[in-house]
Amino acid sequence: MKLYSTKHQSPDVSLEEAVFRGLPPDNGLYMPEYIPTLPLSFFETIQDLSLSEIALEVSKALIGDDIPEADLKRIIDQAITFDAPVVAVEPDTYVLELFHGPSMAFKDFGARFMAALMSYFLEKSAKEIHILVATSGDTGGAVAQGFYQTPGVKVTILYPRGKVSDIQEKQLTTLGANVTALEVEGTFDDCQRLVKEAFLDADLRAKFNLASANSINISRLIPQAFYYFNAYARLKHLGKPLVFSVPSGNFGNLSAGIIAYRMGLPVRKFIAATNSNHVVPDYLSTGVFEPKPSQETISNAMDVGNPSNFPRLLLLSGGEWETAKDLITGIWYDDAQTQDAIRHAYDSTAYLLCPHTAIAYQGLKDTVAGMEEEVTGVFLSTAHYAKFLPTMEATLGTTLPVPERLAELLDKTKEAIPMSSNFADFKAYLLS
Ligand SMILES: *Cc1c(COP(=O)(O)O)cnc(C)c1O
Repeated sequence: MKLYSTKHQSPDVSLEEAVFRGLPPDNGLYMPEYIPTLPLSFFETIQDLSLSEIALEVSKALIGDDIPEADLKRIIDQAITFDAPVVAVEPDTYVLELFHGPSMAFKDFGARFMAALMSYFLEKSAKEIHILVATSGDTGGAVAQGFYQTPGVKVTILYPRGKVSDIQEKQLTTLGANVTALEVEGTFDDCQRLVKEAFLDADLRAKFNLASANSINISRLIPQAFYYFNAYARLKHLGKPLVFSVPSGNFGNLSAGIIAYRMGLPVRKFIAATNSNHVVPDYLSTGVFEPKPSQETISNAMDVGNPSNFPRLLLLSGGEWETAKDLITGIWYDDAQTQDAIRHAYDSTAYLLCPHTAIAYQGLKDTVAGMEEEVTGVFLSTAHYAKFLPTMEATLGTTLPVPERLAELLDKTKEAIPMSSNFADFKAYLLS
């Protein structure tokens, strides 16, 4: 796979180079030169394949020229150690549960695949790398877990102080070893800006082998395509077109869904469901993309005012507003509506939706209600509800069970280094 920059001012690179660089030097985003389509025979027998088997076929098509099949299989087995089950919630409405990995959020797919891929390339080259990652909550935990105790890898995580849940913070700050957490006085956008500036800084580039782990890294998108195929495999027997509703912040997850679509996955429509940070739903309705400062919500992993994957999303969905708005419906909900959705699903089905998932659930229901065609609706559940326990309990007015894995975490002691949102401070820290 050759990758080009969306800004066309940097040379094309190999997969290995794109994975370690994260961002091209022109500050664009790496995109695959072309998206291969999978053969009809794959879709005819997909219902007989497991998630791992699907993952192997999809990654062979995308990156089989770069990595031999046996190694790809090893990378997948190392990364995807958990399932992505499809569960019926209401008639014609299914949830694709993406929270069965170690950090209990869907970012485990991207982060663990990226970690396995980087480890594979590092084995061959014996170089050392320093991973910088900004997180609005869940990326950090997944990346930290994915790279924890990996030889030759140092991980620095930046998170916005007071803007992640207790459990998320513990996932970021209690591993130790090769993982360091920086508690930034600012927003997620500040954290993301610090990381971007570090990558463009000549002094830092000269001193460290910096690598990015944010959703801008192309290796995080690839594994996120796997579970869209898996949902299709599990639901194909119903014989109706699929609609996917994706709770979105930086739009990596939705971009991956559209990669799956471009590879031939039959999908009727995607729903870009957001909270009050709704620049993409606004774009889809007006044709104008206008980044805004991020606003705090109870679905904090989606508090993104300037979604970094937007250029990819647009290119993948045909390159212009007309093509994008035909494939993707935008919809958004404020916190009160999100809480209503959590309560409604709990009262009517006893299913517990985390605030992010609740937005996708409501977006699916409201969108499908306006469609004439009969469809099978799938909303993506991006995190386990217990990661947002105080919000959940306050919303439902009841105490809720916490999985043991998360309960143990809460007893551990946080270790984080305070940091301002000023790039000079961050740079001085890294150089010290
Ligand atoms: C990161 C995250 C999202 C947003 O995913 P994007 O790929 O950035 O759009 C949604 N929900 C949860 C729980 C997340 O952690």
